[in-house]
Amino acid sequence: MKIHEYQGKAILARYGVPVPKGKVAFSVEEAEAAAKELGGFVVVKAQIHAGGRGKGGGVKVVKTVEDAVTAARKILGMQLVTHQTGPQGQKVGRLLIEEALPIEKELYLGITLDRASGKNVFMASSEGGMEIEQVAHDSPEKILKEVIEPGIGLSAYQARKLAFGIGVPAASVNAAAKAMMALAKAYDEIDCSLAEINPFILLKDGRIMALDAKLN
Ligand code: ADP
Ligand code: MG
Repeated sequence: MKIHEYQGKAILARYGVPVPKGKVAFSVEEAEAAAKELGGFVVVKAQIHAGGRGKGGGVKVVKTVEDAVTAARKILGMQLVTHQTGPQGQKVGRLLIEEALPIEKELYLGITLDRASGKNVFMASSEGGMEIEQVAHDSPEKILKEVIEPGIGLSAYQARKLAFGIGVPAASVNAAAKAMMALAKAYDEIDCSLAEINPFILLKDGRIMALDAKLN
């Protein structure tokens, strides 16, 4: 089963993965109220069961409540086509209105089952914000992997190694490692077949956060 980004983020937050402040909106009025509450500098994000929304016009950063309303009007109800939806697209029935964050660096985190070993593998990359399949094709060495031992989970040692490996600055490594371990725990406990945070971001102030969430 696929769940929406805002639902995935709510689960991740419960496990201790930092996520942006945000609110789901089912109407333009709700989007307006959410944008007001968040101070106007927000991101209006289409909630569909497919990625590539940014490139497809389903993610819009705005500076004011008025512009948030304009974006919400445009995106809500639209047939959003991305490279993952097929040519017919998916109808947008809800939006996530989220605080816009100052991004220093976009990273990637993912977990999936490695069929060969029968174990889950935690992947991390410095190349966030783009398709991981593309990174795997062009520069596979930029995807770091750690096997998650069943019954043990991702260890602090593995998480720190990954964090350093993808270029998280020393001051943010502990927070990043903690988020990675929390993601692994969530994946295990809610029985995911795939978890992806793309991008996992480093903020200008050194905080780290899950800016997108895909849980199957
Ligand atoms: P998708 O993967 O479907 O394109 P994302 O949630 O990854 O959607 O958003 C696409 C891009 O939009 C991100 O890579 C990031 O650059 C930007 N973005 C998304 N959410 C925010 C946010 N809260 N603040 C700032 N930029 C954002
Ligand atoms: Mg994404």
